Amino acid sequence: MRRRGYIVPPLSRQKILSKSNQCREALNLGDRKYIPIIPLLEIMHCHDILNTEICDDADVAYRGEAFYDPAEKKIIIPDSVYCAACSNQGRARFTVAHELGHFFLGHTVAFGRNDYCDDNEWRPFIDSEWQADNFAGFFLAAPHLINMHSTTNQVSIEFGLSLQAAEIAIKNAKKPGKVPGLMGTCGTGSVLNNT
Ligand SMILES: [Zn+2]
Repeated sequence: MRRRGYIVPPLSRQKILSKSNQCREALNLGDRKYIPIIPLLEIMHCHDILNTEICDDADVAYRGEAFYDPAEKKIIIPDSVYCAACSNQGRARFTVAHELGHFFLGHTVAFGRNDYCDDNEWRPFIDSEWQADNFAGFFLAAPHLINMHSTTNQVSIEFGLSLQAAEIAIKNAKKPGKVPGLMGTCGTGSVLNNT
């Protein structure tokens, strides 16, 4: 697994799952299979909890990728990704959930370091991107809600996941904490206001 994000305080997959479940409960989504990710963003925006900004796909500052800006508590989403998430496309929904993961896991400039640790020191559980990817997977498809006899296609439809994410979600439900998570499409280093 390659290093992708910034170093943050370590979190195991079990702890990320626990945080995801806490968030779902706090948002009254505890037993909800299909998370209404865009309405959720809008509610958080209206209550000034987390702002959302839609940027033009061609905006070179964001390189066509979604970002979380911890200083402004703002998610910046390219127009095409936002529209795709509104149309319930699984990959775009995962991208939005990944950015929410940065927010809910408390990834901030203060927690991050501007440089990576030595290759020998690096571990996935201290990588901001690995943590956000795992949060997104658990948040969109809580393992306790997945019927392990369901097909990948059924889980994909029920939870609004891509087929790849649905396959991983089923594995997660069988062995949470032991299955590698799906990699999202967030811009590298997006938890920091770097260039
Ligand atoms: Zn990210």
